[in-house]
Amino acid sequence: MEAKKHQIECHNCQERMTIDFATANFATAVSVINGKKTETRTYFEQCPNCDAVNKVTSDNKEEWGKRKGPNIKFFMFSGMLGCLLFLVLGILALYFAFQGLGFVVDWLYK
Ligand SMILES: [Zn+2]
Repeated sequence: MEAKKHQIECHNCQERMTIDFATANFATAVSVINGKKTETRTYFEQCPNCDAVNKVTSDNKEEWGKRKGPNIKFFMFSGMLGCLLFLVLGILALYFAFQGLGFVVDWLYK
């Protein structure tokens, strides 16, 4: 399957430009909803006219061509990191609950 070339207008100067999925840098996001894995890619390309970075998001695998994304271990790691962050927030919330509202207000206005 050939990678798609997206024609877009630069958000900065309205010049028409092409984001070529075969060569542009991209970031990948993976979301799992109801056990179904959805992968979207956001492609970045600099405007040749004004150097502003434009982006196109696509969830259509057939547009992406043969290029591989970052490997799956990275996603598992970032998923774990997300859990850890959530845990820390939970602990913080508990901490403030025990300290009482007075302490929180005190801490905010310090
Ligand atoms: Zn531009």
